[in-house]
Amino acid sequence: MRTYAIVGFGTAGYHALKAIRRLDAGGTVDVYTNTGLAPYNPMLTTYYTGGKLSYREMFPFGSLEEIQKTLPFRCICDTVKAVAAGRTVETENGGVRTYDKILIATGASAFAPAIPGLEPERRFFMRTNEDALRLRRALEDKQVKSAVVVGASMVGIKVAELLAKRGVRTVLADLAACMFPLAAYEDVAAEIGRRVEQNGVSLRFGRTIDHVELESAHPRPRQIAVMTDGERLEADLVVLCIGTRANIGLADSGIETDRAILVNERMETSAEGIYAAGDCCAGTNIQSGERQIIGLWANANHQGTAAGINMAGGNARFEGNILHNITHFMDMDFIGFGDNRIQGETLVFGSLKQGLYLKAVCRDGRIAGVNILDSYPVSGMIKNYMLRLFQEPESRLPPFQIGMLVKAGLTEEFIERLEAAVHGDQGRAAESENSMPGNGN
Ligand SMILES: Cc1cc2nc3c(=O)[nH]c(=O)nc-3n(C[C@H](O)[C@H](O)[C@H](O)COP(=O)(O)OP(=O)(O)OC[C@H]3O[C@@H](n4cnc5c(N)ncnc54)[C@H](O)[C@@H]3O)c2cc1C
Repeated sequence: MRTYAIVGFGTAGYHALKAIRRLDAGGTVDVYTNTGLAPYNPMLTTYYTGGKLSYREMFPFGSLEEIQKTLPFRCICDTVKAVAAGRTVETENGGVRTYDKILIATGASAFAPAIPGLEPERRFFMRTNEDALRLRRALEDKQVKSAVVVGASMVGIKVAELLAKRGVRTVLADLAACMFPLAAYEDVAAEIGRRVEQNGVSLRFGRTIDHVELESAHPRPRQIAVMTDGERLEADLVVLCIGTRANIGLADSGIETDRAILVNERMETSAEGIYAAGDCCAGTNIQSGERQIIGLWANANHQGTAAGINMAGGNARFEGNILHNITHFMDMDFIGFGDNRIQGETLVFGSLKQGLYLKAVCRDGRIAGVNILDSYPVSGMIKNYMLRLFQEPESRLPPFQIGMLVKAGLTEEFIERLEAAVHGDQGRAAESENSMPGNGN
């Protein structure tokens, strides 16, 4: 009978458990968790804090007991201190156990730089279930009138939105020059910024908090965030959404790491029998060919599933992913795929001011980057096409997908231009020749 350990019970750990149980009903599975909670969805934490979701709704797979009924496992509520290449797991409470297969799925933690003068009780993050509860409690006591949120990307924008909706005077700041600096093109970022300000959030770019001062002379002691350009902003609380760091401190020296645990397409680490999945690992970025953390929910699910299948003796590969960002906020959708630094032939559909807008940059027979505003429905098909082009450079959109894209708001003329930009006119000419009646195809 095989023995398995899953270290960390987020969505990557859950999907690995599900895959193991599908192939191996009799093996023993120990799941280590430092929260004692069922897997929750970190994407939903801001919705809970903002009052849009109940506490229970943050747990998409049910409670621990419910999961245990369908996918039996032994739950060990303890923090894992070390996973060694000899396939042992050591916990803080002193237990050491050896397994046939181990998955490290410990996710990531919010990056927490020290800001001089910022008291821990006024410093907030948004990553864990506990972060969500803490911020919600702070907002419920009604003393919070002002806030500075640092980090103008996927997480910071959602925190700023919920604060502004609760009537908190909110400034969103970033050292970068615009919103979504790693995903948005300049004009798209500028439009998003304009809309964010219309929704009551003030923006500050190219600067961050230098230090924090407490003005105790004031009738109500005020916390002031002093920005790197000297501006003084009242901030009853500060939320740091600057990014994350992979939780890899438990991996011993036999497990190769960079900023994350390095894995291959089978989700194997450099140590035999030890796998990694989710935000703690660096898989393949299909676009750059490099190994990189792609910290996304669906990515963690695919990686966890592939790891679980392989741990249980199956054969699964997850070839990798491209960078992508799908964020819904302030009644708009921003979608960014690929690398926004690459320049090339640029195609634009629609207007930034209303309705579906899509910008695509094509280079070397690929779609290098895409930004979409206000149309979620086209995003899946465009992303799949981008991915396909990396694996099958000759690939074209099949007629049924063209039909679906047109139904979702694009035009056949734009899709034709996009394919021509990807494949070049020659490719298009060859295609129309091939499809001419009477040529035998
Ligand atoms: C506010 C927010 C918004 C987001 N929005 C999006 C979005 O719009 N789209 C998208 O695709 N993704 C989004 N994400 C990212 C997405 O949620 C993550 O990529 C995904 O949840 C990662 O899953 P995971 O299982 O790898 O890690 P986690 O969910 O972090 O789970 C890891 C688990 O391991 C536990 N653990 C860690 N160390 C130990 C240890 N030593 N011992 C035992 N247990 C341990 C942790 O407590 C945790 O429970 C967002 C994230 C946040 C925080």
